[in-house]
Amino acid sequence: MKIKFQFSKIIEAINRNLIKPKQKIEIRLDRLSMDPHRYWIAVAKGMERPFTGEFWNHDQQGVYQCFHCQNTLFQSDYKYQSQTGYASFFKHHKNSVKTIETKEKYRYSALQCMNCQSYIGQISKDGPPPTFLRYSINSSALKFYQPKKNQTNLNQSQK
Ligand SMILES: [Zn+2]
Repeated sequence: MKIKFQFSKIIEAINRNLIKPKQKIEIRLDRLSMDPHRYWIAVAKGMERPFTGEFWNHDQQGVYQCFHCQNTLFQSDYKYQSQTGYASFFKHHKNSVKTIETKEKYRYSALQCMNCQSYIGQISKDGPPPTFLRYSINSSALKFYQPKKNQTNLNQSQK
């Protein structure tokens, strides 16, 4: 199901004090063509509901890119099953992910793609060895890519 937002109406409502946002809302005009769900995650720093994303239970070998800019963020070798309902990794690809604000109270920090500044998920310090970090990533922020190697299962190749 797709929900249509009318951003002008939302901005008008905020200006007239009909809606009081808990935090400052950033409206990215260059991103209004995004699917509203992806916009909500990338710009408003939303988290999708656990166990609903495409990749929380995905275990193919390959690379996870930023959905919006195709920057390589994670590799399947860094993925593990955390049972939290999010695609979970213990490490990110070099120079690809940036920690932004830290919520001390909840013991996690927000993460964004270093290239396009889209919000992707959270990091906390309760992951497995060797890093003991847990990256909880929204599937909607990711695009899976399977590089062509000596893959035997040809039907599984990327689109
Ligand atoms: Zn990106």
